[in-house]
Amino acid sequence: MNAASNLLDLDPDALRDHFLSLGEKPFRAGQLLKWVHQLGVTDFGAMTNLSRELRQRLVAASSLDLPRVVRDQQSADGTRKWLLELEGGDCIETVFIPEEGRGTLCVSSQVGCPMDCSFCATAKQGFNRNLTTAEIIGQLFVAARELGQFRSRERIITNVVLMGMGEPLLNFDAVVAAMRLMLDDFAYGLSRRRVTLSTSGLVPAIDRLREVLPVSLAVSLHAPEDDLRSELVPLNRTWPLAELMEACRRYAAAQPHSRITFEYVLLEGVNDQPVHARALVRLLQEVPSKVNLIPFNPFPGAGYRRSRPEVVERFRDIVAGAGLVTVTRRTRGDDIDAACGQLAGRVTPRARRHQQANAARLAGGNL
Ligand code: SAH
Repeated sequence: MNAASNLLDLDPDALRDHFLSLGEKPFRAGQLLKWVHQLGVTDFGAMTNLSRELRQRLVAASSLDLPRVVRDQQSADGTRKWLLELEGGDCIETVFIPEEGRGTLCVSSQVGCPMDCSFCATAKQGFNRNLTTAEIIGQLFVAARELGQFRSRERIITNVVLMGMGEPLLNFDAVVAAMRLMLDDFAYGLSRRRVTLSTSGLVPAIDRLREVLPVSLAVSLHAPEDDLRSELVPLNRTWPLAELMEACRRYAAAQPHSRITFEYVLLEGVNDQPVHARALVRLLQEVPSKVNLIPFNPFPGAGYRRSRPEVVERFRDIVAGAGLVTVTRRTRGDDIDAACGQLAGRVTPRARRHQQANAARLAGGNL
């Protein structure tokens, strides 16, 4: 490791190896993780169960660098959104959604997003780069600190969803390392069921996730047939529905008793008709599923409208009536643009042509 390396980039195993390489016992990793992620201490000098000599070495050669809060907004419904500045000046957004009995943190995985889904505000910003492990787990740390979790006996953030800016499976290694920290008992100690990764459908990476760290999976579906889905989610041209559903089946089979969440944004006159609902029911027949209906959240220049409540209701009735667990997501935080698909930090996009070539390459088989 080079000088002043950011220890937040290391997952628990890598941190143990790091301490071994310093001639220390591996359990030091657990001690450090506890200081940082349970007590909120980022000053090595204050970590009193480490020897003075070790603390000095850490100060000299390591850092615990976190994203910087540049804006903190609170919605009338209690939803909170932070704009975080990263090394290099780009910004990402992180959202906390309090609900009865739980608190969900919605975390970003990339600066912008290359997937280019037609109805998503993040897509309109273009793509700059993947987040590092430190920048992903750093969102959890900053939110925990701002919410007072380090001083509280209770866990305030009970669930994490990778549903912020970016396609998490395009940033596989850093996302998995950050999730290992979310799950580690010395860090955040969340169960796999309480960490949900949402993907637009990168089939090979879904399989890989199943093998290395099968957390709860959410799939952004939005259409029950290929032509329409390819229009809304361009990745569908590379990984069409038949292959996506096969990967979902494999994922579900590897984790009995758990369901895959299918997200479906309702766009007026586009995908919200009874014929779509019935096709959706057929598509999901063989996968243990939960359907999450999301009212479209508008943003300037979106070109879509939210389906009317009675249309949402009719859609829901058809899907639920067929026996599928169906939840209509309440729109939270839309007064501060914190709702699904509205996150847009400060992204310096790379040239569009380059971006798209890159997305195609990544989607096509780099995984
Ligand atoms: N790239 C991943 C992670 C982002 S999740 C994915 O696609 O799953 C963000 C969720 O919000 C996705 O389900 C996405 O489809 C949905 N979404 C995007 N734009 C939206 C909008 N304008 N209104 C409502 N939901 C939207």
